[in-house]
Amino acid sequence: NRSVILKRHVTGFPTEDDMEVVTAAARVAVPPGSAAVMVKNLYLSCDPYMRSRMTRHLEPSYVPDYVPGEVIPTFGVCKVVESGHPDYKAGDMVWGMTACEEYTLITNPESLFKINHPELPLSYYAGVLGMPGLTAYAGFFDVAKPNKGDYVFVSAASGAVGQLVGQLAKITGCYVVGSAGSDEKVNLLKTKFGFDDAFNYKKEHDLNATLKRCFPEGIDIYFDNVGGAMLDAALLNMRLHGRVAMCGLISQYNLEQPEGVRNLACVVTKRVRMEGFLVTDYFGTYRKFEEETGGHLKEGNITYVEDVAEGIEKVATALVGLFHGHNIGKQLVAVAQD
Ligand code: NDP
Repeated sequence: NRSVILKRHVTGFPTEDDMEVVTAAARVAVPPGSAAVMVKNLYLSCDPYMRSRMTRHLEPSYVPDYVPGEVIPTFGVCKVVESGHPDYKAGDMVWGMTACEEYTLITNPESLFKINHPELPLSYYAGVLGMPGLTAYAGFFDVAKPNKGDYVFVSAASGAVGQLVGQLAKITGCYVVGSAGSDEKVNLLKTKFGFDDAFNYKKEHDLNATLKRCFPEGIDIYFDNVGGAMLDAALLNMRLHGRVAMCGLISQYNLEQPEGVRNLACVVTKRVRMEGFLVTDYFGTYRKFEEETGGHLKEGNITYVEDVAEGIEKVATALVGLFHGHNIGKQLVAVAQD
């Protein structure tokens, strides 16, 4: 059973050398009498929040820190190979919290979700039909509360979360602009995901002016995946009673000292509602999201781009690449065939 372990806690940008592939002599079986399940991991998810878990926090974080020397937990799509739990049997396809290894003993199988639409690509359950998809859906509909005709801005727009937010906004009848870090990604936003406009933030020297150009009337909803300078520029461009859905701040995750937000006064003067949210609070609503989004995928109303690395030895490269914008679409690692 090959596993990816964290070698040490990380400061600054993570590197491939912070992780290592190790081989255990044999995989453990489900202990007699236990309600655990053994899964074979098919797809492992690489997600930005994993960077936070690589830090050794002095104050307790919202998720436990990874432990050096231990296998790295992550979301994944898996096949049950052995079960001590009455709700699962060998052969069931599931997604949920597993770990970066070939086989994982899951001691709390209640946290897993059975896959209801095996006719869709299985990998979707680590992306558009998994945690990032639910993040986009919950953050857009429940936190940002869109209205038809709203002006919507999405950052990291071609990524796992952003590409779905933009498409949900279009389905809702909004005007949508996305930012991304390369011309190739900008092209995807405009040609594949149906964004009304998009720009490469790395080529813009004055983000405030860029957003004024893209949103002459101002922004009703900013779905923030990056924080930092983009958030500051967006605040200057919010309309009265606009909403900022604070999904993530990837521009800050590797900084020793997070940047300050200078334009917070706009929240007061424009009566903006800025609200953070965590997808974990929405897992109870998963089935409704799965049915609705699965329907859109089958009808072709939503499309999804994935960046699939092959083999467990690619986990470290794929994960580190997120913080340099190497992924085009949802970053996954394919570990095994069904
Ligand atoms: P992505 O698939 O979008 O991958 C990360 C992308 O972030 C990169 O491809 C890169 O795209 C961009 N990026 C990296 N570094 C920077 C930087 N310094 N400044 C600006 N952009 C940068 O990731 P996800 O869609 O999975 O996640 C998007 C955001 O949502 C993250 O902040 C994540 O933490 C957050 N999140 C929050 C959840 C919640 O419950 N609140 C749940 C899931 C995700 P580019 O080339 O465009 O720069």
